[in-house]
Amino acid sequence: MDHTNGRNHSGRRQWNNSRRGQERRGRREAADKEDIENQEAIRTFKMNTPECPMCGKPIVELGSALADKDTGVPVHFDCVLDQLQKTENLAPDQKIVYIGQGRFGIVVFPQPHDSRNFSIQKIIEWEPRDKKFEWRTEIAGLYSQVK
Ligand SMILES: [Zn+2]
Repeated sequence: MDHTNGRNHSGRRQWNNSRRGQERRGRREAADKEDIENQEAIRTFKMNTPECPMCGKPIVELGSALADKDTGVPVHFDCVLDQLQKTENLAPDQKIVYIGQGRFGIVVFPQPHDSRNFSIQKIIEWEPRDKKFEWRTEIAGLYSQVK
């Protein structure tokens, strides 16, 4: 093998790298644009922070909000829980827990220190199940945009 010869054969270096560099720049710009769009979506979203009709404070965590039973507007989860605790006349051993799909349960824990062992004595359907809430659909759409 003649190394000197080999080097001469390849001659000038080929600048394939420059093309790859351009592609990389292109991708970077696309990512920046996406970032800006996400930030704008978040800003618009924050400006539209709804007020909770139960306590009058803004609902920042709309994702964990519940729909008001009558009007369907978002209300704080904690405000709903508070109200239920006042209106449901709980016995000392009863607790209200969220059991999903807009429902709460009045439950009893036979052994206070065993939270896995409980029985549901009453189910409170807080959100009407057949109803779709526009504000919730909007958040879902927003979260799928913002990765
Ligand atoms: Zn509230």
